[in-house]
Amino acid sequence: MTPFAKAIIDWQKVHGRHDLPWQNTTDPYAIWVSEIMLQQTQVTAVIGYYSKFIRRFPNIHALSQATQDEVLRHWSGLGYYSRARNLHHAAQKIVGDFGGVFPQQFEDILSLPGIGKSTAAAISTFAFNQPMPILDGNVKRVFARHFGIEGWPGAPKIEQQMWQIAHRENPKENAIAYTQGLMDLGATLCTRSRPRCTDCPVQPTCIASLKGLANQLPTRKPRKMLPERNCVMLIHYHAGEILLEKRINTGIWGGLWSFPEAREAPTDAKLLPPLTHTFTHFKLHIQPVLISGTNQIASNALWINLDEAIEAAIPTPVRKILLQLKTQKAA
Ligand code: SF4
Repeated sequence: MTPFAKAIIDWQKVHGRHDLPWQNTTDPYAIWVSEIMLQQTQVTAVIGYYSKFIRRFPNIHALSQATQDEVLRHWSGLGYYSRARNLHHAAQKIVGDFGGVFPQQFEDILSLPGIGKSTAAAISTFAFNQPMPILDGNVKRVFARHFGIEGWPGAPKIEQQMWQIAHRENPKENAIAYTQGLMDLGATLCTRSRPRCTDCPVQPTCIASLKGLANQLPTRKPRKMLPERNCVMLIHYHAGEILLEKRINTGIWGGLWSFPEAREAPTDAKLLPPLTHTFTHFKLHIQPVLISGTNQIASNALWINLDEAIEAAIPTPVRKILLQLKTQKAA
């Protein structure tokens, strides 16, 4: 057993959580339901839902025979509803393919809808005492900090490195205390913000703590840098009316009404406050400029009353500019 695993086990026995409603049982059904609920939800929020769910659906058969609507109703408020749909499907699959008995083989557990490698490992460890390494969000945080792993844990390379650590550290004995201990450590001491390193059983060997990197690890998901574009929107305004152009039918604003655009602001134009609009694929920096007087207009353009323009099929930034103009003109 590695020193890391031993420290976690010793700590769990004394300081870990022992009285959660899904502990002190080896019923795979109860453990499975709790693991699915815990996937994206904090323990404190899960407790109430879990007890109600188990009371209404006490076993695989009860769950498999319920309607999806009823299962979803008992999940209502927990979020990520695909978890409930998968749970329901999986219960039916266990009845259909495994005679209503929760499968013990790791590959069979993994084949059930909504069960990934880490959840299958937790069920395998807690219900069948077949130790398999887990790697959920909490464990990734503990590993990233303790072993000083840089890089976003969701990146395949980093995740693979963490699975190797998970396998290496997973003890052959006391696996239940170890697995529970890792979960407890991540949930109670090695928390996302302000980890309590002074109380941590693995602090003496923790790279993040020793190097003062606990706030930087795990590395955050890299933000995609969006390409940026610039445009000048020409706001022709005359006698309470505005000039709008219908855009061609393709592109992001295809078919909508907008202002004529230019690469540069005409020298005699008045600059209005610039604004930025973020699309999923790029950022658009808009410089609106006010042009007074009437020009010859293109066939796809029209003069329209300012209030009517605001109600027309226009993109959001165009509406913002029009509303700003309305306030300005009213002042
Ligand atoms: Fe997390 Fe601090 Fe423990 Fe390191 S010492 S594992 S950062 S709680």
